[in-house]
Amino acid sequence: ADVIEELEQTLATPTPLLRGIADAMVEEMERGLRADPHAPLKMLISYVDNLPTGDEHGLFYALDLGGTNFRVLRVQLGGKEKRAVQQYEEVPIPPHLMVGTSTELFDFIAAELERFVETEGDDFHLPEGRHRELGFTFSFPVHQTSISSGTLVKWTKGFCINGTVGEDVVAELSSAMERQGLDMKVTALVNDTVGTLAGGIYADNDVVAAVILGTGTNAAYVEHVDAIPKWKGPLPRSGNMVINMEWGNFKSDKLPRSDYDIALDFESLNPGEQMYEKMISGMYLGEVVRRILLRLAHDASLFGDVVPSKLEKLFVLRTPDMSAMHHDTSHDLKHLGAKLKDILGVADTSLEARYITLHVCDKVAERGARLAAAGIYGIVKKLGRDRAPTDGSPKQRTVVAIDGGLYEHYKKFSSRVEATVAELLGEAAASSVVVKMANDGSGIGAALLAASHSQYN
Ligand code: ADP
Ligand code: MG
Repeated sequence: ADVIEELEQTLATPTPLLRGIADAMVEEMERGLRADPHAPLKMLISYVDNLPTGDEHGLFYALDLGGTNFRVLRVQLGGKEKRAVQQYEEVPIPPHLMVGTSTELFDFIAAELERFVETEGDDFHLPEGRHRELGFTFSFPVHQTSISSGTLVKWTKGFCINGTVGEDVVAELSSAMERQGLDMKVTALVNDTVGTLAGGIYADNDVVAAVILGTGTNAAYVEHVDAIPKWKGPLPRSGNMVINMEWGNFKSDKLPRSDYDIALDFESLNPGEQMYEKMISGMYLGEVVRRILLRLAHDASLFGDVVPSKLEKLFVLRTPDMSAMHHDTSHDLKHLGAKLKDILGVADTSLEARYITLHVCDKVAERGARLAAAGIYGIVKKLGRDRAPTDGSPKQRTVVAIDGGLYEHYKKFSSRVEATVAELLGEAAASSVVVKMANDGSGIGAALLAASHSQYN
């Protein structure tokens, strides 16, 4: 009981703490926008200053390289009347390619894309004499040099490929497509958050920000150019610029980092980086649970006298398994017990051990969801949309589009994100702020941005 109580304290995220984190997020956003060299938030300029209007026309491809999956998509855009017809295919990224060479990774992508292009049917029309065009969604931090070029800042989420950092990822993809004999031009390079924002606005005009909660976590939002001191380019006509926050790298004294988080970070591929991401996202939640269970096995004999050896193995407990255990509603937690047997090889767990495991999943998920909600609240605050107007003007609707497998599939996580955003906003503002799932907005978003930056416009 003592161990559990200590654990609860370690993982606690009381509301005043979350308010402090949201304020720290706003401060860090400002620092990043000033290009303070020590700012943890890169606040990357996306070169997207115009978001989709709905008038986009034509056939476009999109390619989405995420953390675990790789997706290809084709869209026939038909303007406001006909909207969009789309087809996609998704393939898991073979793990060896995540730590191999740049050439191997991009050759694999180009080959999959080529295969997909071959299946283009009669619903899709490319005007005579044109090249196919592609929006490339690349969910890693990129220092963009234009809408269609940018160099990799660093790998995250378990990718570790030598020689790509500092290289132009569009050039890498383009040469791979050339090697493949695929005639296609990349007209937009976008982060998945920016793609989700574009896709979100296409579906709902009131979207102002997009958040990814998948393997990793990140956010993008529409900022006024005058609030971006580091922007030295021409003033966009819209007056706006989409900013890719790279919020996974957020850090602050206010973040309640436990010994588990510190050890996880230390043993990770990118120590010292992506602190916020390591407390929130799908790649890490299960691993935090594993570390806690291991400690409980050692200190409180959670699984009997011997500590199951499989429990020592990094990343054995994946977040989808954690989620499955967490959603077990049977009275004797038999599904959870079966998972523990499958994953950790412990045959007979006591009912108490199962309840404790459930509780650990609950606390770790709750903490991640509440920290993510604090970040969302921070963005809403930065935009000044956290309170109802006092001058009697009508309330503006504010929508935050969310995408990612963690949010989509882990209900006890997503419902807590929503509840906590509402809690932080308070009743008056909560009624005008909507947090909603924008499923696969990033693919269609990238295609829309490829269309608005087409060489044929
Ligand atoms: P990516 O982030 O790689 O672009 P997704 O948005 O599809 O891809 O997110 C995949 C991640 O979502 C997985 O790595 C996993 O952490 C998480 N996830 C997938 N399914 C579930 C689930 N059922 N419960 C909890 N998390 C899940
Ligand atoms: Mg993704």
